[in-house]
Amino acid sequence: MVEERLTVPKFRDDCLVTKGIDVKDLVGVRKEALLYVHPCTSERGKLMADIELTKETDSRFLDSEKLCSLLRIHRHRFSDLRCSENLGVAKLRWGGRDISIFRNGKIKIQQARDREEILRVANAVSRLIWAAVVCNVCGEPVINCASGECGKCLLPEQTTVEVSGIAGSELLQQGHAALQGLEGLIPQEYESRLQRARFLALHFAIETPRKEDAVLGLLLLAKAEKMKR
Ligand SMILES: [Zn+2]
Ligand SMILES: [Zn+2]
Repeated sequence: MVEERLTVPKFRDDCLVTKGIDVKDLVGVRKEALLYVHPCTSERGKLMADIELTKETDSRFLDSEKLCSLLRIHRHRFSDLRCSENLGVAKLRWGGRDISIFRNGKIKIQQARDREEILRVANAVSRLIWAAVVCNVCGEPVINCASGECGKCLLPEQTTVEVSGIAGSELLQQGHAALQGLEGLIPQEYESRLQRARFLALHFAIETPRKEDAVLGLLLLAKAEKMKR
C-alpha cells in the first residue's frame, strides 16, 4: 500500500530541520569564502576544491559518531570508506572522486572534472551528512531534532504533504513501506528492514533537488532510528 500523503511534524523555524542545508544556497551568499578551487596535484586536468559549510571553522559543526554511522548506511555506494570518530574525519571514494569530511564543516573534493561537478558533489555530500550536523537550537545532531529526542526543536503541530509530485518520491514510499508490518519479525529481518529504510531515506535526501523536500528523507531516517530495538 503506497501512501500518497504523509503526516509530518513541524519544527522551530531556527532548527536545522526547518532551515535545511544546501551548498548552492551557501555559495550564492558567500561565493569566494566557500569554495576554493585548485588544479589537482595527483591528476592532470582535474580539479580539487575546499568547501566550508560554516564560517566558524573551529566549531563542532558535525557530531562525529553520527557522521560515521550515517556514512556506514551508504557504505556500499562508496568504493572506499574510512571514518574516525576520535579524529572527526571521514574519507570516502564516491563516483570516482575522493572526498574528505571534517568535523568543523570543511569538505575537500578531489578529482572533479569541473566547477559544476564540484557543486553537485558538494551538495550531495551536504545532504548525506545533514543528519549529523549540530543544531544551534539544542546543540544536538539534527537527527535528534527530527526524532523529537532533543526535546527542544519539535513543535506540537503537524502538517500533511502530498508526496506523489516530488522528485524521487518512490524511494521515500519504498522506505516507509519497509517500516510497515515489522511485528513478529526475527531480529535479523527486523534490522535489515530498518537498514533498508535508512538507506532509502538517505538516498532520497541526496537525490531530491529541493531542500524543502529533502526534509522528508531526514524524517524517515529519524523514524527508522526511533524503531531501533
Ligand atoms: Zn534543531
Ligand atoms: Zn533539537
